[in-house]
Amino acid sequence: MLLLIPGPVTTRPEVRAAMAQDIAPWDNEFRPHYIDVRDRVRAIANAPAETHATLALQGCGHFGMEAAIRTFVPAGGKILIPLTGQYADRLVKLADDCGRVAVPLAIPQESPLAPAAVAAALAADPAISHVGLVYSETSTGVIHDPAVIGPVVRAAGRRIILDSVSAFGAMPLDMGAQPELDAAVFTSNKCLEGMPGLCFAVARTDRLVECAGNAGSWSFDLSDIYANYQRSPGGFRFTPPAQVMMAFRAALDVFDAEGGQPARFARYRANADALFEGMQGIGLMPYLPRAVQGPIVMNIHAPADPAWSLQGFVDALKRRGYLISNFYNTRLPSMRIGCIGAITPEDMRGFVRAADAALTEMGIRNRAPAAKAA
Ligand SMILES: *Cc1c(COP(=O)(O)O)cnc(C)c1O
Repeated sequence: MLLLIPGPVTTRPEVRAAMAQDIAPWDNEFRPHYIDVRDRVRAIANAPAETHATLALQGCGHFGMEAAIRTFVPAGGKILIPLTGQYADRLVKLADDCGRVAVPLAIPQESPLAPAAVAAALAADPAISHVGLVYSETSTGVIHDPAVIGPVVRAAGRRIILDSVSAFGAMPLDMGAQPELDAAVFTSNKCLEGMPGLCFAVARTDRLVECAGNAGSWSFDLSDIYANYQRSPGGFRFTPPAQVMMAFRAALDVFDAEGGQPARFARYRANADALFEGMQGIGLMPYLPRAVQGPIVMNIHAPADPAWSLQGFVDALKRRGYLISNFYNTRLPSMRIGCIGAITPEDMRGFVRAADAALTEMGIRNRAPAAKAA
C-alpha cells in the first residue's frame, strides 16, 4: 500500500528495518546517534552550530508547536497568526489554550501570504512579539515562504515561530540568514520520511537561554531540553522513542544519498507535476491554479456526479494499493493527495490510472467539479 497522505508518509524498507531492535536510550551507545541526528538536522536548516541547536521532543507536530509557543512567547504575550488554513487555526487554539493571546489575521487562503498584510498587522499592534507562520499549509497546499515574510517581521523588530512540519527537508530554509526565526518545528514522519513519534525544533541558543522559565510546563519546555543537553550531552529528559530515532537516522542517510533538500524538493515537485497533469488528463480539476500549487499536498475537486462518495472512492483506491485522506479539507468537496514520502512520479502516474479506474467502477460520468460546499 502506498500512503499518498501528507504524513505519516510511505517509508523505505531500510528505514523501517532500523526500528527492529531493543535499545537502552540512556546507554552510552545510543547517545552519539542522537547527537549525530541533532547536528544533521541543524545543517538541513542551514543553522550554524555557534548560534543554533536542535531540540527533540517526544510526540507529534502539535507537541512541538506548543513547546515552541510556550518557550518563546511569554505567558499573556501576543502572537499574530495569519489564517492560512486549518493548521493556522490549530496554532490559534494551541496559543490560546496555553495562555498566550493569538491575534488571528484573516487573509486570502488560496494564494501565498502577502508580506504587506503582516507588516500592517504588526504596525497596528506593538504588543505582538511573534508571528506564527505555517510554511506549507497542509490543508490548502499553498506555500508561505518564510524568506518572503521574514524581512518585514525583522524590520518590525518582531520574531517568528515557524510551523515547518510539512516543509522541513523539502522546502529551502536558511536559519543562519534569518535571525528573526526563533524556531522551526517539524516531525520525523513527513518530508524526511521517517516514522512518527518525534518532533524537532531548530532554535537559536541565545533565545533558548533568554526564555528559560517562560514555558509554564516542564514537558513542553525547549529551554529545559537545551539546558539538559549542557548537563547530559546526547541525553533525553524522559524516555524517548529510541526506535523512531534510529529509523530517523536511517532516513537521514537516505536523504543525504538522494542529494539533500534540493533533490528532495525536485522529486516532490516532479510528483506534484505528474499528479497535476495526470488528474487533468482524466478530466478532474486541481483545486488551485498551477502557479500557487505547492509540491507537498494537492487537493483535487471532487466530481459533481451524484454517484460520488469520498469514502467509496477511498475504498476503491485501497483495493488498488493506494491510500488517500478520507476527509475534506476544503470548502468545496475535494480529494487530498500527498506528494511526499518515498514515492516517485511513476507512482503518481500509477495512482492516476487507479483513480480513473475507481471512478469508472463507481459509475461516475460527470467529472466536472462539484459546485456545492462539502
Ligand atoms: C502534520 C502537520 C502538523 C502536525 O501534525 P501532528 O499530527 O501533530 O504531527 C502541523 N502542522 C502542519 C502544517 C502539518 O502538516
